[in-house]
Amino acid sequence: MPEGHLVHRYAREQHAALAGQVLAASSPQGRLDTGPYDGRRLRAVEAYGKHLLYHVDDAPALHVHLGMRGLFLRHDDPAVPPRGGVRLRLAGAGVAYDLIAPIRCEPLPGDGERALRASLGPDPLRADADAEEAVRRLGAARGAVGAALLDQAVWAGLGNAWRAELLFLAGLDPDARAVGPAPARRLWELAVGYLALGRDAGQVVSDPAAPDERWVYKRPTCRRCGARVRTWQLGGRTAYACPVDQPAA
Ligand SMILES: [Zn+2]
Repeated sequence: MPEGHLVHRYAREQHAALAGQVLAASSPQGRLDTGPYDGRRLRAVEAYGKHLLYHVDDAPALHVHLGMRGLFLRHDDPAVPPRGGVRLRLAGAGVAYDLIAPIRCEPLPGDGERALRASLGPDPLRADADAEEAVRRLGAARGAVGAALLDQAVWAGLGNAWRAELLFLAGLDPDARAVGPAPARRLWELAVGYLALGRDAGQVVSDPAAPDERWVYKRPTCRRCGARVRTWQLGGRTAYACPVDQPAA
């Protein structure tokens, strides 16, 4: 699943390529009415957690969630015919983006946009994220910290790979409960720093010296100490942790 770093990467690239332009919007697959968007000016492309919002003049925000398999294809020639199954094509001068297999691609009227924003916790990649609120929400979360990190109402944007790697970097057991303000703040600062590296690199980065490596995520052994990585189900996904570097609280 594309986690927040990739969604922010898409937003940044598409904003740079299309913002300020009059869009040609179409749905080759026919499953979206692009009438409100075609021929109107795109003001901004915004990422919030794993959600994308396209802000277009005189139209409701266009909401996209990629889900497990959604992706964008970029074409340098906006006239290139779309392949089958393209939900949405957004084209400007010299570039087009084709959206394939999202779980959401829908106009979001004002109340829907407010509800979406209200449903999301602080996003470590947003400049307006409130670090104290992030610490408060993590501390107030019931259950294991590893489950809370996947809850988009606690922090927005993290998925399973970031959960595993950030908890490793923080030295926290995913099963730990009632995380205090100091470790919560440390974890938030790690998320802010590493997700930005991931956005810029286009992949999860948990060791800048070895950007293609992971510490524990989907590894049989810990890359730091060699201990066998522990795996179990937590919050509906497989948790990965090193029993040495992330001792039980
Ligand atoms: Zn280890």
